[in-house]
Amino acid sequence: MAKPILKNVTEEIVLGLVRFLLQSPDYQTFCDCDDCQMTIASEALNNLPTYYVSSNDAREEAFIALKAPEQLEKINKRIITAIHTAGKKTNHKN
Ligand SMILES: [Zn+2]
Repeated sequence: MAKPILKNVTEEIVLGLVRFLLQSPDYQTFCDCDDCQMTIASEALNNLPTYYVSSNDAREEAFIALKAPEQLEKINKRIITAIHTAGKKTNHKN
């Protein structure tokens, strides 16, 4: 039997999106160091519902559910808000 896991799939998706967004041309004025990435991710995650799973099958399903356009839009909005609030506090580039 597959080993059980305990994962918040929202967290995995948010971390990936934070990295992706900070590397995109639109966000070049914000710092993308690990510190800032985690600050932004934690702020976004505190404003998003958790999505815990305990198996890899459920994890796959959660990924599909959270990558639906309307879900992704909600998550992206939260991250962008977090980039602007956290980025102001910890903008190492300025
Ligand atoms: Zn930084």
